[in-house]
Amino acid sequence: MTNRVYNFNPGPAVLPEPVLKEVQENLMALPGVGMSILEISHRSSTFENILNETIENLRKLANIPSNYKILFLGGGASLQFSMVPLNLMPPKNKADYIVTGSWSKKAVKEAKRVGQVNIAASTEEENFKRIPKQEELKLDPDAAYVHYTSNNTIFGTEWHYIPEVGDVPLVCDMSSDIFSYPFDVSKYGLIYAGAQKNLGPAGVTIVIIREDLLERSQDSLHTMLNYKIHAENNSLYNTPPVFAIYVVGLVAKWLLNLGGLEAIAKINDEKAKLIYDAIDNSNGFYRGHAEKDSRSKMNITFRLPSEELEKKFVKEATEQGLVGLKGHRSVGGLRASVYNAFPIEGAKALVEFMKDFQNKNS
Ligand SMILES: *Cc1c(COP(=O)(O)O)cnc(C)c1O
Repeated sequence: MTNRVYNFNPGPAVLPEPVLKEVQENLMALPGVGMSILEISHRSSTFENILNETIENLRKLANIPSNYKILFLGGGASLQFSMVPLNLMPPKNKADYIVTGSWSKKAVKEAKRVGQVNIAASTEEENFKRIPKQEELKLDPDAAYVHYTSNNTIFGTEWHYIPEVGDVPLVCDMSSDIFSYPFDVSKYGLIYAGAQKNLGPAGVTIVIIREDLLERSQDSLHTMLNYKIHAENNSLYNTPPVFAIYVVGLVAKWLLNLGGLEAIAKINDEKAKLIYDAIDNSNGFYRGHAEKDSRSKMNITFRLPSEELEKKFVKEATEQGLVGLKGHRSVGGLRASVYNAFPIEGAKALVEFMKDFQNKNS
């Protein structure tokens, strides 16, 4: 097999090797079908079984209650920045947004086209290095919903609590930490996530929506932007991203075989701890961007003493098969994305490299 590097890319990102192997083995022809997953009809019983099995496995993984629908949509998580307000804001036409990074800001931008946006909290003045505390949230009890981003992929911060929002439906962009730990779906009205970080390949977005909220989708909406239509058609109103859904199904099975979300959370804790310990024990050579109690277990952001050293770090790490570590330009420095499928051996290899690099350059 071709040599694989340690892939720290923020998304699209690393996939589990057993999943890639199964895709490869069955790519020419699905067992008993004689056609590739890339060739079958989305109306075939083969695909319908794949779709329904994927839904059932996701339901099992996160204990998703039966009064929630699971949808597979196109357009990326970014289309949800528009679909959420278009479907859920009327008739009140106002919503609360908690702004903790670039993706939250993009969500706000689209929501403002639909109605009134109340910024319930923002940590932008502190360059998004922390998550606001519950006491800081200025929530409107009459808002149509509250929107937040559970993990800030670019800044490397993550919510370690679910905001308390009373009876107002809670909407969450979970694109970069969904299924990385057990979470209580019943606390949410709607959850969405682009697949390409923790769930599968690019091309499909998962929406988990509480059924009563489907009643908010008005008939006047464009059909393809209407949650209710997608729910009534089990995501088969038009041709869904067949291949991407198939791979999400394999990833869900992989997670279940591993022992589910408790098991993956333990592994994720271990990986993140290895790298954060390396930062904290470096006598200030490495400096984390996020405040300690806001640290992300998926995207670990850190700086070096100079931009020159940061460039050197990226270059030399890449040469050693540690790939995708360059941080986003809005934070600078380094970012190690260690999603579910990222192997613990890769975290250990990074820690070794960090120690070695510090010894040679300080
Ligand atoms: C990557 C990302 C997005 C954007 O996803 P697309 O599928 O590219 O539209 C949105 N929100 C978060 C938190 C992300 O990490």
